[in-house]
Amino acid sequence: MTKWKLRCKECKNEWVLPVSFEIDKMKNFYHYCPYCKKNTFHEPVKKLED
Ligand SMILES: [Zn+2]
Repeated sequence: MTKWKLRCKECKNEWVLPVSFEIDKMKNFYHYCPYCKKNTFHEPVKKLED
């Protein structure tokens, strides 16, 4: 499965999300942030292949 490193725009923490779709075209990816413990906007940092 593809994993994406995301950066939360609120807390600036980076974390990895396994996703099955391309999100590199999304500048603002709205998702639950495990640090903020709420839904925030994220930006894709890079794609991780395994
Ligand atoms: Zn956050």
